[in-house]
Amino acid sequence: MPQRLLIRGGLVIDPEQGLESVRDILSENGRVRSLGRDLARRHPSVPVLDARGCWVLPGLIDLHVHLREPGGEDAEDILSGASAAAAGGFTAVLAMPNTKPPLDSPALLRRLRRKAAAAAAQVLFAGCASKGQQGRELADLRGMDAVSEDGRSVLDSNLMRRALESARSLDIPFMSHCEDPALSRGAPVNEGRASRRLRLPGQSWAAETVMVLRDIALAELTGARLHLCHLSCRQSVEAVRAAKRRGLAVTAEASPHHLALCEDDIPGPDPSWKMNPPLRSRADRAALQEALADGSIDAVATDHAPHSAAKKGLGMRRAPFGVIGLETALPVILHFLVHRGRLSRRRLAECASAAPARILGLARKGSLRPGMDADATLLSPDEPWTVPGRFQSRSANCPFIGMRLRGRVRATVRAGRIVHAL
Ligand SMILES: [Zn+2]
Repeated sequence: MPQRLLIRGGLVIDPEQGLESVRDILSENGRVRSLGRDLARRHPSVPVLDARGCWVLPGLIDLHVHLREPGGEDAEDILSGASAAAAGGFTAVLAMPNTKPPLDSPALLRRLRRKAAAAAAQVLFAGCASKGQQGRELADLRGMDAVSEDGRSVLDSNLMRRALESARSLDIPFMSHCEDPALSRGAPVNEGRASRRLRLPGQSWAAETVMVLRDIALAELTGARLHLCHLSCRQSVEAVRAAKRRGLAVTAEASPHHLALCEDDIPGPDPSWKMNPPLRSRADRAALQEALADGSIDAVATDHAPHSAAKKGLGMRRAPFGVIGLETALPVILHFLVHRGRLSRRRLAECASAAPARILGLARKGSLRPGMDADATLLSPDEPWTVPGRFQSRSANCPFIGMRLRGRVRATVRAGRIVHAL
């Protein structure tokens, strides 16, 4: 018997098909078989997932998550992180390699892929650019889905050039965390209103933008596909716009927290609001929102960065950077952007699924056309939801806890199977 599922009567939003209409979706053996107006009546024996009143998007893909395995399993592991992903509507995620030890070899990659085979969401892996993430010698990138030195920049520009050349020859994207540490000095908040108000060291936007500009120059030199991670400020957005105008293979992401919040929202010295890059000014947030709407920023990516309560309890100066995001990303984008008229639902589907699929070269994802993977996210766009203090994630370092948001994930389907449903 073929494995089948009928997703019934949802508003299917699929920019690749130019579709924003109520449809039934029939999946068979993990792929979309057909879309139609009345498939439920024609296939009465197929199990039904009722999507009436819901929006149905191609399964969300997160380009940027930290699953902490190996070495940080007190905060998250591959299985808990993938469960958090499924609960948040994500059917595939790209795990960053700054684990302990860092992912820098085909042998460790094989071990992690075996573990990920049982996960609720598909887990793809970025490998380090440098061995041990030490910034000295090029790592062995064979078999990796992407390259990234995330957590830091590759400071040696010649090594960065060679890593980009290597990424190009393997036809994988380089996901770049842009930060000049001599400028950022690991400061916990933005330099400006936040650093003055909270009396903390601040890091300026320039710490990000100088590296964005360098990496764009090296992408031009090498012809590599450069993807810029978690952009946070107006000047970086302008640099990406200019690179795209010149026809370079440069793409960019922004996180839900940078799109929804700004430095003025930080309630006090609470490390659940400490992330890297830090929340910037209102004007920076407006620039990010505009860039996401007009396509200068291609994708939303969570930078899901779980940390234990003990580590986050060390205070603003000593606690590690990062917030979790998988289970709040879609409601946050709906609430702060879509419902406020700053992002169309069509752009939502593009930046949360179609664009990430394209960036990772996943030819069967990002759309619900017949023949594609039967990955879908069902959401009730207007349902109010208060962000709880506990998550599928093993961690709870989240600035949105207690906020009342409009819009909620109802169900997640991966390869024709329901991996999350309320
Ligand atoms: Zn990063």
